[in-house]
Amino acid sequence: MAQKHSSLARILSFAGTYRPLTYTGLFLSAAAQAAGMVPYLCIWLVVRDLVAAAPDFSSASGIARYGWIAFGFATGGILVYFAALMCTHLAAFRTASNIRKRGMEHLLKTSLGFFDSNGSGLLRNKLDGAASETETLLAHNLADIVGTATMFVAMLVLMFVFDWRMGTSCMVSVVVSVSMLCMMMSGKNAELMLLYQTAQDEMAKAGTEYVRGIPVVKVFQQTVYSFRAFKEAIDNYSRKAEKYTDGVCKFPQSVNLTVTEGAFIFLVPLVLFLAPAAILQGNFASFVTDFAFYAVFSAIISTSLAKIMFASSGTLLASTALKRIDTVMNAPILPQCKNPKEPIGNGIEFSHVTFTYDGNDRPALCDVSFVAESGETVALVGPSGGGKTTAASLIPRFWDTDEGEVKVGGVNVREIAQKVLMEKISFVFQSSRLFKISILENVRAARPEATMEEVMKALHEAQCDDIIEKLPDGIDTVIGSEGTYLSGGEQQRILLARAILKDAPIVVLDEATAFADPENEALIHAALRQLTHGKTVIMIAHRLSTVVNADKIIVLKDGRVAESGTHESLKDAGGLYAGMWAEYNTAAQWKIQKESL
Ligand code: ADP
Ligand code: MG
Repeated sequence: MAQKHSSLARILSFAGTYRPLTYTGLFLSAAAQAAGMVPYLCIWLVVRDLVAAAPDFSSASGIARYGWIAFGFATGGILVYFAALMCTHLAAFRTASNIRKRGMEHLLKTSLGFFDSNGSGLLRNKLDGAASETETLLAHNLADIVGTATMFVAMLVLMFVFDWRMGTSCMVSVVVSVSMLCMMMSGKNAELMLLYQTAQDEMAKAGTEYVRGIPVVKVFQQTVYSFRAFKEAIDNYSRKAEKYTDGVCKFPQSVNLTVTEGAFIFLVPLVLFLAPAAILQGNFASFVTDFAFYAVFSAIISTSLAKIMFASSGTLLASTALKRIDTVMNAPILPQCKNPKEPIGNGIEFSHVTFTYDGNDRPALCDVSFVAESGETVALVGPSGGGKTTAASLIPRFWDTDEGEVKVGGVNVREIAQKVLMEKISFVFQSSRLFKISILENVRAARPEATMEEVMKALHEAQCDDIIEKLPDGIDTVIGSEGTYLSGGEQQRILLARAILKDAPIVVLDEATAFADPENEALIHAALRQLTHGKTVIMIAHRLSTVVNADKIIVLKDGRVAESGTHESLKDAGGLYAGMWAEYNTAAQWKIQKESL
């Protein structure tokens, strides 16, 4: 329970200046419920006056007044309830948007690598989920809980105001009902309930998996085996459900239902017992009206109790929402240097860099050192898993090194202000994506203040003219909208246009592994020439034809620099690179032969 309260408090802490509005909303909701009870009270007063006046009904003069009071409170109650919901909704929307904003602010401070390994869609789902749960909770559930609780308390007070003896007899039902509910939910029974709920969740999961697996089942003609897990989950659920209902709920729930549904159980005998005295005292008429009150309203008290119990399960939303918020808020922050230094020039230097991914035992990079002078092109080559992508991603600080330094313009990247570093580097990685916005906006994302001409020029230099031409709305076509399909090579070219527009002095490139067709390949090479002209370039090349002209080639294998040098020197050295070169040439020749057939 304490846990629940603290999570609610934490959720409310996101409301900021709107927090008082939540409280106002809750207060108004309570007031509306209280006002809503007045008409019932008026009905009872009317009955009382009529009974008292009988048989001369014309002497019951206050009835019309009760009618107006009832009308006034009923209308007022509705208006106040509207106002209450207005407040809670305003506060809930603000809280939800604050959760989104704070989450986003936090994510802006995390490392780029965190996104690579977590999937931005997943993170967005987490934030969206948390925000919408918070909305439901703050806008509706809390107001309902507070309103019902008010009604409950008001009923209790009324019960004792009219006739404490009948009130007590109704309270007996309430006490019995509450203790039965507590009995079902406490101690060892709570564990059984948890087992039951877990079994229910597992059944749902197994069901989903089964349905997801249907294509596989059909293809491989598996029927019995794939079904088994699902059936076991159902059987398990049925056992747990039986155990919980039969072992735990049978007795208390029967008693609970008996006393709540039959609210008269204690009331009727009591009234029969008290009636003779009332007749003797001559106030039988008011006795009957009191009885009418209890007979009608004692049922409300149990219903409202059940409602509170039901609604309070809504506060569970608070902890689910918090869990989601925490996954986002606990994302590691990339530390920012307090006194950033200005990089001088555009050289890049790796000095004794060692880096291990979280959760891996083997370092992805081990004691890697190399230099790319300002304006040089350095190619990273080597077998898959050698550490090329990792090395490239340390330059824009996707991750921080464990040991050693990565320097840009002679300054450790950790000591460069993030904005400055980002302005200095264009990177096109294999994991780079286009946004689901128009091509114009996609390219302009690199430099929002760029003019239309500049964007068109970048697209032209990236050899995108044919793409724009064939699309229905040209440069305004929204990527991913119906009917627009871009091949991998075409997407790559638009990404290159974005990098060209950015015009940063350092370019870090992870070349796509396979361009589908030679035509695309030629276009991409033309685009790359435009992008890298006069820049410091770190490029990961998968086809050695692109690295022949590099100023320096670094061969990475198992996270270490195996060899380095120019194409010529490495080819003659007869090592790993020479082997790769020979292999590449054989493959190329084989391709040419095949094509000339
Ligand atoms: P390359 O680009 O040369 O193929 P990578 O830099 O992608 O090599 O990978 C180097 C090593 O780091 C590999 O062993 C790979 O499994 C590991 N690795 C790469 N990315 C991640 C990641 N996000 N999380 C954990 N390990 C990773
Ligand atoms: Mg790679």
